[in-house]
Amino acid sequence: MRITRKEHQISLSDINPNVLTILTSLQEAGHQAYLVGGSVRDLFLNLTPKDYDIATDARPEEIRAIFRNCRLIGKRFRLAHIFFGRDIFEVATFRANHPEDETPDARLSEAGMLLRDNIYGSLADDAWRRDFTVNALYFDNQDLSILDHTGGMRDLKGQVIRVLGDPAMRFKEDPVRMLRAIRLSAKLKFVIEEHASQEIIHNADRIRYASPARLFDEIIKLFYCGESLRSLHLFRTHHLFGKLFPQSDHTLVNHEKSEYFWSLIQKSCENTDARVQQKLSLNPAFLFAVLLWGPLQEKIKELQAEGHRPYQATQLAIHKVIRNQQAVINIPKRFTTIMQEIWNMQHPLEKYPNKKARSLFLRPRFRAAYDFLMLRMESGDSSLKPSVDWWTKYQSSPEAKLILSAHREGIKNGSKNVRKDGTEE
Ligand code: ATP
Ligand code: MG
Repeated sequence: MRITRKEHQISLSDINPNVLTILTSLQEAGHQAYLVGGSVRDLFLNLTPKDYDIATDARPEEIRAIFRNCRLIGKRFRLAHIFFGRDIFEVATFRANHPEDETPDARLSEAGMLLRDNIYGSLADDAWRRDFTVNALYFDNQDLSILDHTGGMRDLKGQVIRVLGDPAMRFKEDPVRMLRAIRLSAKLKFVIEEHASQEIIHNADRIRYASPARLFDEIIKLFYCGESLRSLHLFRTHHLFGKLFPQSDHTLVNHEKSEYFWSLIQKSCENTDARVQQKLSLNPAFLFAVLLWGPLQEKIKELQAEGHRPYQATQLAIHKVIRNQQAVINIPKRFTTIMQEIWNMQHPLEKYPNKKARSLFLRPRFRAAYDFLMLRMESGDSSLKPSVDWWTKYQSSPEAKLILSAHREGIKNGSKNVRKDGTEE
C-alpha cells in the first residue's frame, strides 16, 4: 500500500540534508533507497528522529563504491556507515526473514535465538523482518509517499505496538524485542497489542539470553527515552524488571522499607525525564546506584549481622551487589567505579557541620553524591534534611566559591583536568 503525500505531513525540510544526499546518490546510481524505521515513524508523529536508517537494494560493496566517506561494518550482517563530519548514517541492504524450509538449527540456537541474520531480500521481505508494524514504513523522498506492507500506518494512527509475525517466536528469536516494545510503548504512549503483551510476560525469562553488554545499552535507552516512569511501570508489570534486576526486585517485594526504595527509583525517573527534556547530561552510574541502593542496604545489614564492622560490611556489600548485577547486565567498569564513589560518599555527607567539607566538595563526584543524598531525603528519609540543607548552604558559601573559581583557573591553565560535577561525564 502506498500512502501519498496528501495523506501525511512529512516534508523534505524535516529531514537531515545529508540523509537526502545519501538517498539521491543511491537512486542516481540506479538503486532503490528509502528512509525507514524509527525516523519515518517519528516524522509522521511530528517528533524529532533520534537517528536515521536508510534501506536500499544496493549490496554493501555497491554502497561503498558510491560513497567515498563510507565504511562497511558488522560480521553477522554487513552494514554501511556513511560519514558526514561527526555524523554517521547507517545504510542497510534489504534483508529477509529466513526461509521457512531452512532447518531451524541452522539459524537458531537451542534457546530459539537468531544466530544469523544475513539473507538479502526485497523491500517487502525487509519490511516483514523488522520488529513492529510502526517500524516498517518506508519513506520515498522522490514522490514523498510512504510504502506500507504490514499495516504500520493503521497502527500508527491507532497507537498500537504490534509485533510482526508471531510474537512468541519473534521474542524467542531476539528477546531484546521485548524491551524495545516497552520502550516504544512508553515513549509514544502507544499500547502494546494484547497478545504480544501476554507473550512478553510469558517469555520474560528469556531476556536473560540476551548478551549482558547489549542489555546494558537497552536499559539505558529504556530509562533515557524521556518517559522513564512509564517505562518502569511497563517494565515491572511485564515481569522483565525482576528478571534483569533480581536483587532490586527482591527488596521491592520483601523489604520493610520497600515503599521507600520504590519511591527512590520513581523519583529518580522523574528527575531523569526532566533532565532529558532540558537536554541535560545524564550519567548511567547514577541510575544504577539508585536501582541498587535497596539491595545494598539489605546486604550491609546482613553482613553486619554476621559480625562484620560497618565499614567492612559496606565495602563487601558493594562488591557483592555489583557482582551479582553484572551477571545479568554488563555495567562498564567506568560506571561501577562512579557508583561506588556515590555510595561511599553518602555516610560522610550525612555529617553536619562537616569538618571535611572542603575535601569532600573537591571530590569529582561531589555533585552526584549530593544529588543522591537529596534524592534519599525527597523519597521519604526526612532525617537527612539537616545534612542536605547544610550542604546546600555550603555550596554557596565564600569558601566553596573560592574553591570553584580556583578549580576553573586550574582547568584554564591546563593543569589537572578533573571535572567538578560528577554527573557531567
Ligand atoms: P529509536 O532510534 O528512536 O530508538 P528505532 O525504531 O529507530 O528507534 P533503531 O534501533 O534505530 O530503533 O532501529 C532501526 C529500525 O531497525 C527499527 O525501527 C526496526 O525497523 C529495525 N530493528 C531494530 N532492532 C530490531 C530488532 N531487534 N528486530 C527487528 N528489527 C529491528
Ligand atoms: Mg532509529
